[in-house]
Amino acid sequence: KSGYREYDGIYDSCSPWIPVPRNTDFTTYCLFQQQSWENAALVDSLTGGKLTFGELKTRVLSISSGLAQKGLKKGDVVMICMPNSIHWPLLFFGALHLGAILTTSNPLSTVNDISRQARDSKAAYLVTVPELWEKLKTLNLPLVLNDIDALGVRKPFGASLPLARLSELLEADPWSSPRVKIEESDTAVLLYSSGTTGPSKGVILTHLNCVAAVNQMDGLPRPLGDVPIVGIIIPLFHVMGLIGVCSNALRSGAQLVIFPNFDLELMLGAIQRYRITHMGLVPPILVLLAKSLLVEKYDLSSMQLIGYGAAPAGDVTGVSKRLKNVILRQGYGMTETGASAVIVREGDYDFANKYNSCGHLCCYLQAQIVDVSTGKPLPPNQEGELWLRGLNIMAGYLNNEKATAETIDKDGWLHTGDLAKIDENGFVYIVDRLKELIKYKGFQVAPSELESVLLNHPEITDTAVIPFPDEEAGEIPVAFVVKRAGSNLTEADVMQFVADRVSPYKKVRKVVFISSIPKLESGKLLRRDLKKLLTSPTSKL
Ligand code: AMP
Repeated sequence: KSGYREYDGIYDSCSPWIPVPRNTDFTTYCLFQQQSWENAALVDSLTGGKLTFGELKTRVLSISSGLAQKGLKKGDVVMICMPNSIHWPLLFFGALHLGAILTTSNPLSTVNDISRQARDSKAAYLVTVPELWEKLKTLNLPLVLNDIDALGVRKPFGASLPLARLSELLEADPWSSPRVKIEESDTAVLLYSSGTTGPSKGVILTHLNCVAAVNQMDGLPRPLGDVPIVGIIIPLFHVMGLIGVCSNALRSGAQLVIFPNFDLELMLGAIQRYRITHMGLVPPILVLLAKSLLVEKYDLSSMQLIGYGAAPAGDVTGVSKRLKNVILRQGYGMTETGASAVIVREGDYDFANKYNSCGHLCCYLQAQIVDVSTGKPLPPNQEGELWLRGLNIMAGYLNNEKATAETIDKDGWLHTGDLAKIDENGFVYIVDRLKELIKYKGFQVAPSELESVLLNHPEITDTAVIPFPDEEAGEIPVAFVVKRAGSNLTEADVMQFVADRVSPYKKVRKVVFISSIPKLESGKLLRRDLKKLLTSPTSKL
C-alpha cells in the first residue's frame, strides 16, 4: 500500500491515476477548456468588483492582443512586481497565451534583489503599480535592462501601470490575439527560489510542469457540492498562490476572491461577506486562527476547507476546535515541484492531521527516501532525504547548470533537501529540513545571503545563520556571530546592520555571540551543531 518497490527502493505514487492533458498550454488548460461563462471568476475583496469567466476569458485574449501590439513575443520575459489584485491573473494568463514567460517578484524585496532577478531572467517588461514606482525607479539599471518597459509606456522602468487604466493601456481587440504555437516543453514561468543552497535562482517551470502540477491536485474537494468560493490571501508571486491556489481554483471553475495583502480582520470580514468556502493558507495564519479573539466576531460558517503548506505546520487542533466543520488539508511542495507534490486525499484528513502527515504522493510522482550518510534508498518508516521524480518537476535552474546538476541528478531525481519518511500506507511526513533554507511566515530566507551581509561588517569575523522555531512566524533567522577581538558590538547593532540591507522579511531576529563557528575541515558549516546549541537545556532561547 505504500507503493514501495523493494527491488529498487522506489515509492510509486499510490494515488489514483488522472490522465494527463498533453500538448496544451497552461492558459488553454486553466481557462479555455473551462465551460463556465456566467459564473463569477474573480472578485476584488476590497471593492466587491467582479469579472465573470466569460469576461475573464475575453480580457485575457484582449491583453495578449495588446501585449503583442506592444511588441511582446514568444519567449520574452515579463516581470510582475505588485500586490495581489484581480489584474494579476489577467496579465499572467494574457502573457502566457502569447508564449511569453512570467517571472514574479515580491513587492517587499529590496531594489537590489528585484534588479538582480530582472537581470538574471532578462526580463523585457515590468508590470508594477504606482505605489511601488518610487522604489522601482531608483533601480540602478545595467545595460541589459535598458529594454525593460513598464507596460503601456515605452521607457525603461519609465512609469508604472495604473491598474484602473489597464484596459485603456493594454487591451486590444480580443479577436486579433495572435495564435502562437506553444509547446508543452516551453517555459511558462520563472519563479525564484534559493533551492537547497545559495542565492535565489530562476526555477524553470514548463507549460507541462504547470498543467501536471494542477491536474494532479484533482480539482478542489467540494464537500457540499457547490461552486467553491476560494479566498486567496497568500501572495501570487509564490508558487503556492499562483499555481496551487489561483490556477487550480480557476481551472476548477471556482470563484476567486483576491486579497491585496494579509490582514486578519480584512480576511475574516471577507469570509463572512463573500461566504468564502475554501482558503489556501500558510501555518502562521493558522496560528492566528487558533488564537485570535477576532475569530469569534465573524460568521465563518461558510468555510468548508483550508488547504495549508509551504512551511512546517505544528498541531492544527486549535484551528479545528474553533472552526468545527472545516476540513484542514495539508500539502507539501516546492517552487521546484510547481506547487503540489504531496497532498492529503479525501477521507484521510483526520488521520493526516492527527499524525501531522502532509498526505500521499500526487499521482505523477515517484519518491525515494535516501539515507543521508550512505546514499541508499530506505524502506517505509525510515527517515532520509526525500527525492522526487515526475511530470511536475522543474526543467532546471535558469542559466545555472551547476545548481541544476546539484539538485536534479542524472536519473531525474529532484533532491528536495527535506528530511522525510513514508509509512506503510504511503503517508508522507516531513520531519525536518536538511537544506539551509529558512521559512519566515512562509517566505524564503536564504542563510547564505544573510551570512554575506554579516561578513561585510568590519567587526564580524565569522558567522552562520540558522532557523529557529517561532510560534508566530514558523521560523526566524538566528545569527551566530564571532566578533573581532575587543569589539563592543551588541545584538541590536547586528540586527540593525542587517535590517538596513535586506528585505524586511529577511531580517535577523536573534543574535548569539559565539567564540567560533563549528565547521568541517573543508570549511562547510555544521549548521546542525548550531541548532543543537539552541535546543540544549542550557540554551537561553
Ligand atoms: P518554496 O519553494 O518556497 O515553496 O519552499 C519549499 C520548502 O518549504 C520545502 O522544501 C519545505 O522545506 C518547506 N515546506 C513546504 N511545504 C511544507 C510542509 N507541508 N511541511 C513542512 N515543510 C514544508
